[in-house]
Amino acid sequence: MDPGTGLIRLALFGSPVRHSLSPRIHAAFARQGGLDVVYEAVETLPGTLAEALARFAAAGGLGCNITLPLKREAVQLAATCSERVRLAEAANTLVHEGDERWRAENTDGTGCVGDLQADPRFRLAGARIVMLGAGGAAAGVLAALLEASPLEVVILNRTAGKAERLARRHGDLGRVSGRGLDDAAECGGFDLVINATSAGHGGGLPALDDGLFGTDGACYDLNYGVAAHPLRQWCLERRIHYRDGLGMLVGQAAESFRIWTGFEPDSQAVTRELRAGPGGG
Ligand code: NDP
Repeated sequence: MDPGTGLIRLALFGSPVRHSLSPRIHAAFARQGGLDVVYEAVETLPGTLAEALARFAAAGGLGCNITLPLKREAVQLAATCSERVRLAEAANTLVHEGDERWRAENTDGTGCVGDLQADPRFRLAGARIVMLGAGGAAAGVLAALLEASPLEVVILNRTAGKAERLARRHGDLGRVSGRGLDDAAECGGFDLVINATSAGHGGGLPALDDGLFGTDGACYDLNYGVAAHPLRQWCLERRIHYRDGLGMLVGQAAESFRIWTGFEPDSQAVTRELRAGPGGG
């Protein structure tokens, strides 16, 4: 925070960030808390994050979010990192600790589990969960999911080796295994199916089998907006309870905002506001 003006400088680094909802979300949090915040989305290419952070720190930057494709680069540049960042090998939040020092955090798991727990149709404790995808987002949410005490988490990914490695890294937190997406037909009857693939951005679906869902099985999609349409439709046709990832997006942002400012925003109110707005889905 600028000691003279009280201004809090925050930012988002990644590419592309032009259409990001984050500036709108953080502006809403700032209004809730009566805080004077500038949150800027800065187009940043791979290999240039160190320079961008140095400029931001010199301008008084307090903290920033990191998005694709820089979540790994952020871990490498950070002086210290949380256990969740270590396990995920990805950071979505940096906190400026003075000079050239940044602390890395990952708030995706808190955002995802918080949103799941806000909907009584989802049960995590004792549940059998399958997560489709093993990219940065899947890695970011896995520790928080396992800490919610499910019976087991199975990760299915198009590239089997990535799912296996991700599961191995988290083996101390609970019962978790990784396999290829081709094995989907061999395992099934899950209480919760989490889609952490980016297939929806191309208008598609990850290969899905009806048998993946147990009786009353429900679906949580990390995607939101247009990218969420294919899976939402697929679930609607089968009367499967479905929720998109807009609440997670706001929840992870709220946790970052709390880390930077100490103020705990009402993320449900901001999610409702976004859903009511244009393109809110
Ligand atoms: P990554 O690029 O790191 O990973 C993409 C994942 O999707 C990989 O596991 C990849 O498999 C898989 N995949 C891509 N296309 C297909 C396909 N056609 N069929 C099956 N699997 C496929 O992306 P992220 O992990 O960062 O993001 C994943 C999704 O989550 C994105 O759509 C993103 O928008 C969303 N997201 C939402 C957030 C929220 O707050 N709601 C936060 C972060 C992300 P493979 O490894 O084989 O390539």
